[in-house]
Amino acid sequence: MARKKSMFRELRVPLNPDAGAAAAVNHKFDFYNKNVVYINRSVLNEMINHCREELPYEACGLLSGQHGRNEMMWKIRSTEKSPTSFAMDMKQVSAALTEMKKFSQTMTGMYHSHPSAAPLPSRDDIRNFHDPAAAYFIISFANRKTSIKCFKIIDHKAFQVKFEVIR
Ligand SMILES: [Zn+2]
Repeated sequence: MARKKSMFRELRVPLNPDAGAAAAVNHKFDFYNKNVVYINRSVLNEMINHCREELPYEACGLLSGQHGRNEMMWKIRSTEKSPTSFAMDMKQVSAALTEMKKFSQTMTGMYHSHPSAAPLPSRDDIRNFHDPAAAYFIISFANRKTSIKCFKIIDHKAFQVKFEVIR
C-alpha cells in the first residue's frame, strides 16, 4: 500500500535581506488531518479588497465560520501604520470574537498583507501567532502582482497549506 504523503508541503524559503524576509522552515509535520483550507469566494475577494485599500500599509483581519471553513471576515484595524508590520487592535479582536458567536461561528483563520514582500510569513509573523488550527493567509502585492498563500503555524513553524475556494 502506498504510504500516505505528508499533509504539509515543506516550505522552503530563500534567505532574503528584505524587511519582509521569511523565516526558513524545513520541517515536516503530520498532525492535522486536513491539508486543505476552505474559504468562500466572497470572503477571499473582500480580503483582497481590504488589503488593497490599506496600501501602502499592511492590513489585517480575522476569519470565521463553522467546521473550520472560512465563511466570514472581520476587518481589524492595525495599530501600526506600517508597510512592513501590523498589530491588531485588541478591542476590535475581542468585539469580532463576540460577534462570531452570534453567528454560531468560531475563529477559523486570520489574514494580513505584505505590500511589497512575498506572501511568506516573516519571523515576527511566526513568533506572534499561536493558533495551530487556524488558517493563516498572506496577501502579497509584491511586484504589482496579487498573490495569496495560506499557512498553518504550529509550534513556531510555518507549513504551507492548499486552500480551496468554495461557493
Ligand atoms: Zn507578515
